[in-house]
Amino acid sequence: MIDVYVSGPAEDVAQLEVLGNKIQGRFRFSGEPKPGAARVQLLRAVRGGLLSVTRAGGVLVSLDQSEGISLYAGIPRSLYMLICVVLGLVYWRVLELNPLLIWEDLFVREDPECLCAARGTVQEYALAFERPWICPACLEFLRCTGAEPETAALQDVLAHATSAQDRTPAKVRL
Ligand SMILES: [Zn+2]
Repeated sequence: MIDVYVSGPAEDVAQLEVLGNKIQGRFRFSGEPKPGAARVQLLRAVRGGLLSVTRAGGVLVSLDQSEGISLYAGIPRSLYMLICVVLGLVYWRVLELNPLLIWEDLFVREDPECLCAARGTVQEYALAFERPWICPACLEFLRCTGAEPETAALQDVLAHATSAQDRTPAKVRL
């Protein structure tokens, strides 16, 4: 298990802790700082992109438009938040395990609808959440980098999203 210290709006941190620790087993989320824990910061402020990931600083997730995107995608907002966080942590883990890789290296082989495809803005991510999935090429790439347990955690979270969407009538999602 990888300890993850989450900071940000208290309500968001609390939701992430409850849901995140329930539906995947790789990351242990906590709102309390812990020595050696990976860092995730949830930001309410508008930023350029959805995610920013560095080896030293950890993961920054923008919650800008999170209400609208989760409503559009037909998933609870807490689940949307968790997907973003776990996606960021997968990237962070890949960087940590592979000192020679840089951020741009993570986006080389892409199906444009794949959640792991290179995207700039939060709006560009909205479509990817319509049916969030990871293409076989990215799965293979992530496994080769050694981040297999983290990728499996992301897939567990995505499976919850898909089942939530299946319970939401399509007309509500439009
Ligand atoms: Zn892909």
